[in-house]
Order: sequence, then C-alpha cells, then structure tokens
Amino acid sequence: MATLTRITPTALAKRLLKVAQVFLMLDYDGTLVPLAPTPAQARPSAELLRILKKLGGLPHYKVAVISGRTLSDLANLLPVPGIFLIGGHGVEVRSPAGEVTYLLDHKHITKIINKLEQLARYCLNDKKGFLLENKGYSLALHYRLAQPSMVQGVLNKFMELSKPLVKKHDLNILLGKKVLEIRPSAIHKGKAVSYLQQLYPHSLAVYFGDDTTDEDAFRALKEGLSILVSPRNRVSAAKFKLNSPLEVLKFLTFLLEKKEMKNTG
Ligand SMILES: [Mg+2]
Repeated sequence: MATLTRITPTALAKRLLKVAQVFLMLDYDGTLVPLAPTPAQARPSAELLRILKKLGGLPHYKVAVISGRTLSDLANLLPVPGIFLIGGHGVEVRSPAGEVTYLLDHKHITKIINKLEQLARYCLNDKKGFLLENKGYSLALHYRLAQPSMVQGVLNKFMELSKPLVKKHDLNILLGKKVLEIRPSAIHKGKAVSYLQQLYPHSLAVYFGDDTTDEDAFRALKEGLSILVSPRNRVSAAKFKLNSPLEVLKFLTFLLEKKEMKNTG
C-alpha cells in the first residue's frame, strides 16, 4: 500500500501544468460533487459544469467522469459536451463525440440485477429510511436515512438470501459510505481506467475518487497519479490526497485559469 501524501489543489495543478497531455478521470459522487442525503440531491454547480466544459474543449486535456450511476443519469446531471461519461462502474462509455459503447454484456447483467432488486425489496419490506437504487449493472441499497438499529438486520437478511445468486454469477458485495452495493465482479472502475488509458497512451492519467469502488481504479492506473478525495487519512492505493470536492473544484479552476493564461499570454 502506497503512503498517502496530502497535496494542495494548487500544488497538484502546478505539477500537471508541466505535462503536455493530461487525462483527468474523475468520480462523481463525493469527488466532483459533495455527498447528499439521497443520490438525486447530489447535483453539480453551474461553476463545475462551466469548468468541465472548458477543460474538455482544451487540446491538452481529456476529461472523463466515471461513476457507478447509469450513463443516462450521469448525462442528465452533466450536460457537458466534449468529455467522456462512463456509467455503471465502467459498463457504458460515452465518447466526447457522443458515441456509446459497452465494455461488457450489459443485457445479461441487467437481468441479474433485476432479480437482486426483487430480493432486496422483499428484505426491506417497506422499512423507512432505506433506498434501493437499481443502476442497471449494479444494485445499491442506501441506508443513510435509516434507523441505525435496523440496518444490520436488513443487510444480513439480504446478504443471506442473495448468496445463491452471488455464487452463481460471481457477484461482489461492497460496503461504501452508508451503502451496500452489489454487482458482477467483472465490473469495476479499473476496467474503465485501462480502457481509457489504451485510447490515449501518451497522456498522463490522473484519477480522482473518494470511495471503495475507486480503489480498483487507483490500482489499475499505469504510471498515472491517483488522488483520494477524503478529509481523513485512510488505507488506500492512492498516492495523493485532496480533502474534499471543494478542493477538487479549486484544483480544476486553478488548472483552467493557468492554462488559459498560458495560451493567451
Ligand atoms: Mg464517489
């Protein structure tokens, strides 16, 4: 495990300004946009949209947003042309030109996830504070608003009942920030990172992420920079650490301003 080094937004930007081609790969929730009580409430600011659009339009940069959300969800949240949008932890890829490709057999996966959703509904039995999110290629069971004393029972029941499916289809259960997520083990953000890196082998890839699912991406990076977004130090495969989505925004803003100054100056 690499040692995590705190870096400031400006120091990181300065480092990248020396590099000819940079590929910025960013997680969405908790990285670009602060976590909200429900996923629907985690919306980007107008400022963030403006900066992503501008960065995507610069020849020195490629930008990708890689999320566990579905591509259509992500495209609604980020109406930004000229950047890669990657949904389903790497299943659906939309190129800057708007073409969509799939890195895995998405129809087969969707069937399995629908079965899991039925199972989870049965376990929840309408209990308050839980939120099921069928993302097509993964199922997320959010419990941020649930009564803490109820959580473990529900999770245990679901994990017990889903065991046969987990075994048969080689599924992974991940515990994130107040969320249990289940999906085929073949799907992870590392796949998306490898795919993007082979498209632009001469770019320096820089990956930003805040959660468990981003660790696969950190590990998949080849000669790139990995940035954990977290206020605390923790065990991570990332090399550097920014404190918050606000710092990510500061970094992007600084990078854009300096690059524009360089281009016009
Ligand atoms: Mg995240």
